[in-house]
Amino acid sequence: MATFICDRCGKCCRSFGAFITPERQLGERDYYCRYGITGEIFLVNVQPEYAGEIADAFDELTGAGQDASGRACIFLRENRKGRGYSCAVYPSRPSVCRDFLCYRMLIYLDASGELRGKVIGANDLRTKDAVLKEIWDEEISKLPRSDDSAWSGSVLKILASHGYRGEPVEG
Ligand code: SF4
Ligand code: SF4
Repeated sequence: MATFICDRCGKCCRSFGAFITPERQLGERDYYCRYGITGEIFLVNVQPEYAGEIADAFDELTGAGQDASGRACIFLRENRKGRGYSCAVYPSRPSVCRDFLCYRMLIYLDASGELRGKVIGANDLRTKDAVLKEIWDEEISKLPRSDDSAWSGSVLKILASHGYRGEPVEG
């Protein structure tokens, strides 16, 4: 098993934004939020360095006529300590964010150990390797998906028979 590593691209947080809505500010850094898909209410605590900008964004969001559809999550912020983006409520982020892995398997060329592809979502391959893409399209994409661990085992075997090594990812 490989360990999931987030590269801070921020893509998932841009699409979750419409579903994570701060509804009430409790204190300088505390907000009650709602997850729009399930209606779950959760409490977040904003990291001190983002307190001012989140308070301003919250005021804007709750202003008259604000439309949340299509916006990024209000807690997605530029990373102050390096590249990419940060979550301003990372230690108290909701379970939907904790559980989310944007890829589920890494695929390496066995001989060199070079990373050649990532499996995204249920059954979608991201790769620039034309040979791997052909193997995926012709032998893997049509495998039955009813049993996740059987699917994973079959994928690993097919990849190995062509000189690739798949590593399922855990959070
Ligand atoms: S979980 Fe994935 S999509 Fe989301 S920020 Fe990290 S690398 Fe990007
Ligand atoms: S709460 Fe944090 S991890 Fe979740 S969508 Fe917003 S910025 Fe991303």
